[in-house]
Amino acid sequence: MPDQQFTLDPSDWSTVRALGHRMLDDMFAHLEGIRRQPAWREMPAEAKAAFDVPLPTSAQGIETAYRAFLDHVLPYTAGNVHPRFWGWVKGSGSVEGMLTELLTAGLNVNAGGFDIPATYVELQVLAWCRTMMGFPADSGAAIVSGGSMANFVALAAARDAVAGAAAEEGLRTLEAPLAFYCSDQTHNSVAKSLRLLGLGREALRAVPTNTAYQLDLSALDRMIAEDRGRGVRPGCVIGNAGTVNTGATDDLVALAAVCRREGMWFHVDGAFGAVAMLSPSLRPIMNGLEQADSLAFDFHKWLHVQYDAGCVLVRDAENHRKPFSEPASYLKWMDRGFGAGPAAFRDYAPELSREFRALKIWMAFVAHGIDQYRRLAEQNVAQAAYLSALVEKDGALELLAPTALNIVCFRYCRAGLDDETLNGVNQEILMRLQEEGVAVPSGTMLRGKFAIRCAITNHRSRLEDFDVLTGAVIRLGKALTIGD
Ligand SMILES: *Cc1c(COP(=O)(O)O)cnc(C)c1O
Repeated sequence: MPDQQFTLDPSDWSTVRALGHRMLDDMFAHLEGIRRQPAWREMPAEAKAAFDVPLPTSAQGIETAYRAFLDHVLPYTAGNVHPRFWGWVKGSGSVEGMLTELLTAGLNVNAGGFDIPATYVELQVLAWCRTMMGFPADSGAAIVSGGSMANFVALAAARDAVAGAAAEEGLRTLEAPLAFYCSDQTHNSVAKSLRLLGLGREALRAVPTNTAYQLDLSALDRMIAEDRGRGVRPGCVIGNAGTVNTGATDDLVALAAVCRREGMWFHVDGAFGAVAMLSPSLRPIMNGLEQADSLAFDFHKWLHVQYDAGCVLVRDAENHRKPFSEPASYLKWMDRGFGAGPAAFRDYAPELSREFRALKIWMAFVAHGIDQYRRLAEQNVAQAAYLSALVEKDGALELLAPTALNIVCFRYCRAGLDDETLNGVNQEILMRLQEEGVAVPSGTMLRGKFAIRCAITNHRSRLEDFDVLTGAVIRLGKALTIGD
């Protein structure tokens, strides 16, 4: 027998407990005071250097690690929890979500199925998701890490459904090569998925978009006909419910009809946009989404669930399971005991071991109610309209895309400056906005023009925050172009 037996549990629980209470208080203070923080603060060299040290071999204690967190992490993290963060598409999280993460970590459940509460909580959340999105009660559903994984899972189901026997025998046995179609505004996770699914990047056809950045339906028809003419089999259309660049939504009713006519799978990427389904006033924009064979959307963006959490729904649960259910003796389903239970989530996505993500979603939905998420989405859409109006009424600013939902793309402009110059000026404005800590929009290129892009998925933003933004853009723009 060894004379000492080791564990990770504390030798003195009361000290750790006191530190735990302090951590909780520190994080409450952080969130309560977030508006007084800069929207971004660059880590100084000293903070970066704190994360470039040798592997620790001996114990330094949680107090030492926490000190480093307070010194080198916490001061530089405002980012997407800040009221003036509108970059990329990021959610703000919630205080309730933070608390739930503590509970989740305390339980440290591996939520892969089994006869445990995590399974029932997850089934509850999945049932609510089908209801929210107008999917049938028996459709396949899974909670995954985010929209990228949700797109991957859905497109795997699409591939196997259209590949027939080649799904088992290997894609080299396909009778005709497959082509998938999406607009040129589609998120790059779709292209990544096609690579990972062995279909090849070139199987993805980028269909041009109209002036509203929606997929051009006649171009789609032409491309499908051309592919058929060359012996290529059209397999799937990916529609956008809120593009990442401008928030445009494709004509989903028309895309659903094309897919029915052509015998194709219809997938919708609604990473953030699908949340509009909760609102009677916004829902018409999403018409046709409920006809999709599969849908991807995120909890961690416009539903403000703590990172990370996304959802995939697949109308035909059998199709959903096809790529992911693989029998294994060590996973034999038992009649009773821990190894029983009503669901095996491993059959609906690549992961076996999984975090108990459903708890933070369930708790947030119960705590806030879906009406509050609806109001928040509507508030962000109204803020996007407000920002667009500010841009349009100021001669020094120019809207670069129609504001269809919650994303506003604009730039500073000045008579006599060409696009190339303005692209440079606006990139510089964007970086300075961030460096000054005023706000964090991100940028994108729209038809050759660099846009300052605000994706408003933020429950802390207030109308006056957008006045602060436009004021700063004009101030920086003038400073950069004076004398030109
Ligand atoms: C963010 C986003 C994705 C990817 O989702 P992640 O959760 O970041 O993986 C896919 N599509 C669209 C339209 C997005 O906005």
